[in-house]
Amino acid sequence: MRKILVVAEMGRAGPDDSAFELAAAARAAGKALGEHRVAAAVFGRGVAEAARGLAPWFDDVFVFDDPQLEIPDGEAWRALLALLIARERPLLTLIAHSNHGMDYAPALAGQAGTPLVCDCVALEVRDGRLFAVRSVYGGKLNARVSVALGDAGCMATLRPGAFPAAPAPQGAGAAIHAEAVPAALTPRRRCLGTVAPEPGAVDITQSAVLVAVGRGIEEEENLGIIHSLAEALRADVACSRPVVDKKWLPRSRQVGTSGVTVKPKVYLAIGISGSFQHMGGVKGGPFIAAINKDPAAPIFSVADVGIVGDLFELVPLLEEKVRELKG
Ligand SMILES: Cc1cc2nc3c(=O)[nH]c(=O)nc-3n(C[C@H](O)[C@H](O)[C@H](O)COP(=O)(O)OP(=O)(O)OC[C@H]3O[C@@H](n4cnc5c(N)ncnc54)[C@H](O)[C@@H]3O)c2cc1C
Repeated sequence: MRKILVVAEMGRAGPDDSAFELAAAARAAGKALGEHRVAAAVFGRGVAEAARGLAPWFDDVFVFDDPQLEIPDGEAWRALLALLIARERPLLTLIAHSNHGMDYAPALAGQAGTPLVCDCVALEVRDGRLFAVRSVYGGKLNARVSVALGDAGCMATLRPGAFPAAPAPQGAGAAIHAEAVPAALTPRRRCLGTVAPEPGAVDITQSAVLVAVGRGIEEEENLGIIHSLAEALRADVACSRPVVDKKWLPRSRQVGTSGVTVKPKVYLAIGISGSFQHMGGVKGGPFIAAINKDPAAPIFSVADVGIVGDLFELVPLLEEKVRELKG
């Protein structure tokens, strides 16, 4: 029975969200293929226990647990995945389009001799082919790509946040396979160290409520009202690209095609026009509320509710109301 292989990335606190998103995409593809098994490959040091957490979502979990894998290294993952793919011959291999996935996926596909479709935002399997949607030219166009699911298999990298995760399927419960790791995996590349995020740094990809601010805020000094509203809402602050370009907020807060993809429950866009490059980073169908003084701003065509008005008047009023309601 052919497999669909998911390369599951591990975060500091267990499997990364993308692992569950890829698992759901793999199950959906597998359903269309008929007979299949969905497998995960996991890499790291001391990851055996965390890998067991993936078991409900998969039929097989291949665990590469070795001190050499403590720091994620694309060269090591590529070498090990090439061996795994040669042995397991998956019909489809799904990889997160993360910095790490982008590092090793092209070389892996070249080595395995399979087609690779990168940065997919939608996938479908039908008539023995993989149909993918990828956004190109900075999100200006969607390209539809189709690849035959031939004997050599096929690989795709999936944009994190673009595919919804799903609950563990009933009946699944993986067989865990401890995989051997050869010595001297990465002779050509040496990791000199890792840089920890700044203390207190916020990961907006994990935020349930985001207050996002755009160029409409005009000056860095004006950001105080945004932080204050976010605090009242127990939300995190995100922003559009001009705010980062002006160095008013760090790049880690930028939402969009050249920023991060977020999937909050609520997205409050303040002084943001709603360009496709910005909205391309807002996934998961959140409730979108917008404040903009221009009634023709594109943000209003995607917002669930909108207020046309001056943010400098409206944001303090909104904060006052929120604090009043919260007592
Ligand atoms: C390759 C490429 C990649 C890009 N990637 C990204 C990305 O990842 N993320 C991103 O955000 N952008 C990205 N951009 C830039 C993008 O095209 C837009 O220029 C950007 O999103 C606009 O940001 P903005 O909405 O804050 O600013 P603007 O488009 O200038 O909009 C500001 C809005 O604020 C409103 N406003 C002004 N004053 C007030 C006020 N007092 N009260 C209420 N409303 C007010 C205005 O009506 C306007 O709608 C990218 C561009 C390119 C070419």
